[in-house]
Amino acid sequence: MAKIEDYIPIVGESVVEDLRLIAVHLRGKRILNVNSTAVGGGVAEILNRMVPLLRELGLDVHWDVIKGGEEFFEVTKKFHNALHGGRVDIGEKDFEIFMETSRSNLEQMEISGDIIFIHDPQPIVLVRKRTDNKWIWRCHIDLSEPKKKVWRFLKEFVVQYDAAVFSAPAFSRRLLIRQFLIAPSIDPLSDKNRELPQKVIDGILAKYGVPKDKPIITQISRFDRLKDPVGVIATYRLVKKYIDCRLLLAGGTATDDPEGQKVFEEVLEAAQGDPDIHILAIAQNDLEINALQRASTVIIQKSLKEGFGLTVSEALWKAKPVVASNVGGIPLQVKDKYSGLLCYTPEGAAFAVKQLLSSPDYARQIGENGREHIRNNFLITRHLREYMLLFLSLYHRENIVHL
Ligand code: UDP
Repeated sequence: MAKIEDYIPIVGESVVEDLRLIAVHLRGKRILNVNSTAVGGGVAEILNRMVPLLRELGLDVHWDVIKGGEEFFEVTKKFHNALHGGRVDIGEKDFEIFMETSRSNLEQMEISGDIIFIHDPQPIVLVRKRTDNKWIWRCHIDLSEPKKKVWRFLKEFVVQYDAAVFSAPAFSRRLLIRQFLIAPSIDPLSDKNRELPQKVIDGILAKYGVPKDKPIITQISRFDRLKDPVGVIATYRLVKKYIDCRLLLAGGTATDDPEGQKVFEEVLEAAQGDPDIHILAIAQNDLEINALQRASTVIIQKSLKEGFGLTVSEALWKAKPVVASNVGGIPLQVKDKYSGLLCYTPEGAAFAVKQLLSSPDYARQIGENGREHIRNNFLITRHLREYMLLFLSLYHRENIVHL
């Protein structure tokens, strides 16, 4: 596991020195993170790296996961889709299931700490355990157009927190608590992102039976309709009419996402047995994801909604030309025609992919710009700094700005 000084060659000495200076002010504070899954999805991805690095900086940081059954996670997935603006059928029974599991977590979990850092809606009710400590709600979802019924329900809990954190300005809501804007990040030294020898990359392609004979277009994502895997297949088909290529759709499922299997089957059906479409159901394997991203010619992220889209940062950090939807947190990362190409439809995505495949110099430049954009804005060192400053700010006199 990388040590904090290992980041110096990537971000410079002063950035790491700042982290050490800020951390001193948080010594002695116990910080507890709570979310709903230890593996799968962006939140777990970040916490897996954030927690050990904060500890190395001398902070007393912990991470706990709530428990929930299948019914609970079906409801929270409905919440997730509704908060992303999707039309979802949610009734009283769903709210009851949510509250029942929340009550059992309230009873069973020991929530102790100076700062309690709750991630996303699933554990939101835990705030009922608040004492004289500080509570933060970190929302990773694109809340720009939430369905009112679910947002109204959750807001009752959100307002009991000291502060809320969102990934992009458009996601903030009218709230009487303090709001912070902090974008997620990737760790350049994790197995997911570190440099890999070509031999390793080739070995993983061979393991999955993907030949290197044609350009490879890739989307790495959980099998989730909001990631639009079927739209990616449509994009590939439009490109394939002009340029011979392969499509790689790789993803696993998260323990808090019950829809994965169903969507996986829809994707298999949409592929209609095309031997140039490789649909890989990979277990959580950071090195393999890293290798597949590095083996790709172009990376797509054709999400219909996206809180942030860590996969976009991961691809850009590898200097890959990216074509991604102009939704949620993606335009923070992809500045159109500079650090990637933005798209709206399969036709637009296909046009962009064709452009990149037929102009390798342009694709290389876009990829290099992307890598620098991530270095400057979306690496874990910036994130560590902002989280620590957020923690510290909770102990300072509040200047509440009512939005
Ligand atoms: N990921 C993974 N295996 C998979 C699919 C995704 O490790 O099979 C990772 C991906 O590399 C990224 C994270 O899970 O680090 C997904 O985060 P993102 O913000 O893109 O989407 P989310 O799943 O949180 O909606």
